[in-house]
Amino acid sequence: MPTLLDSLPALYRGLFPASFHKEVPVEEKATCARCAMCKDSGAAAVESVDGVDRFFRPDTKCCTFHPRLPNYLLGALLSDERPELAEGRRRIEEKLASRVGVGPQFLRPPAKYALLYSSMRGAFGRAGALVCPYYDTKGGGCTVWPYREAVCSTWFCKYVAAEDGRRLWTTVKTYLTLAEIQLSRYALLELLPDYLLSGRDKVDPTHAPLRAEDLDEQPLSEKEYRELWGAWVGREAELYRASYELVRKLSPEAFQRVMGLDGVVELRVLEARHAAATATQLPKVLKLNPSTTMKWLPDGSVALGCYSEYEGLALPGEAYALLVEFTGKEPVEAVRERLRETKQADLGPDVLRALYQHRILTEA
Ligand code: SF4
Ligand code: SF4
Repeated sequence: MPTLLDSLPALYRGLFPASFHKEVPVEEKATCARCAMCKDSGAAAVESVDGVDRFFRPDTKCCTFHPRLPNYLLGALLSDERPELAEGRRRIEEKLASRVGVGPQFLRPPAKYALLYSSMRGAFGRAGALVCPYYDTKGGGCTVWPYREAVCSTWFCKYVAAEDGRRLWTTVKTYLTLAEIQLSRYALLELLPDYLLSGRDKVDPTHAPLRAEDLDEQPLSEKEYRELWGAWVGREAELYRASYELVRKLSPEAFQRVMGLDGVVELRVLEARHAAATATQLPKVLKLNPSTTMKWLPDGSVALGCYSEYEGLALPGEAYALLVEFTGKEPVEAVRERLRETKQADLGPDVLRALYQHRILTEA
């Protein structure tokens, strides 16, 4: 079984603590090479929600997202001379030349993109206008994959442990996001302290009111850009590479100090979520979740959905009549016994586990 670290950029392998060496199941439902959310994948997908098509476009898949790349990951990419990353380096250099969203701490999405993204409904996975600038639409892959950021490292459309898997990976994302903030600040404290001392790291320009320049995706004025970058103007890639060198030399102990108390708390949450995602025991009492959606399928089976708009669970039609017997008033084993006696039917531990992980059955 792979570990959590196996899913993350290699740069973190020497830094992250023991909790990241825990084993996790392969997220095999997210079959990216033959995208499980595309119509021709053969995988069962939720076709529509409230009349909105939920299949993803094969030329966008889930890369309808613009990442926010921290300085040290950019430096690592720009320092990596492998030919297969040439296109990724070229796209980053093109971004740097545009000066749009280019800052000492992060290479951010343009403000106009961020507004579109936060205002969309049902367009994720389906809007060409939202495709990531680092996505290879012809080859269907990521040009910066070894140096992807927190969201891209932890998002799956479907999780082997369903809701428990989603919670685990969301916690990993939170930890990674904290690492990106703290490590990029750590580098700037050394390389461009004025950026931190003037509080620029506390401001997220992506969500400021849009100016005319933002709508036209124009860069900051020369004066504003010089104030932002100080002595590093014209040497942006150099600052990113220097940030990578500083982060690369950190020891695991120094990394823990950089992460501070917030890092310690997030690790505790991570450990609890990992335990839940890999647990085999069920809660003693379960009830049918009233938020469950159901749809009868032409073959007589029933599709049940709860934890995600991207994944449902199909059961034989007669199983639904058994589910309603779970009212939260008696232990699971007592319900099963009653079902065996009165209906000559049963729901086995694996089915119950899947129903619980999808939160179709939930704790009473
Ligand atoms: S994670 Fe993205 S690319 Fe992979 S199967 Fe899911 S939607 Fe497709
Ligand atoms: S950085 Fe890569 S994985 Fe992330 S959205 Fe862009 S193309 Fe997809």
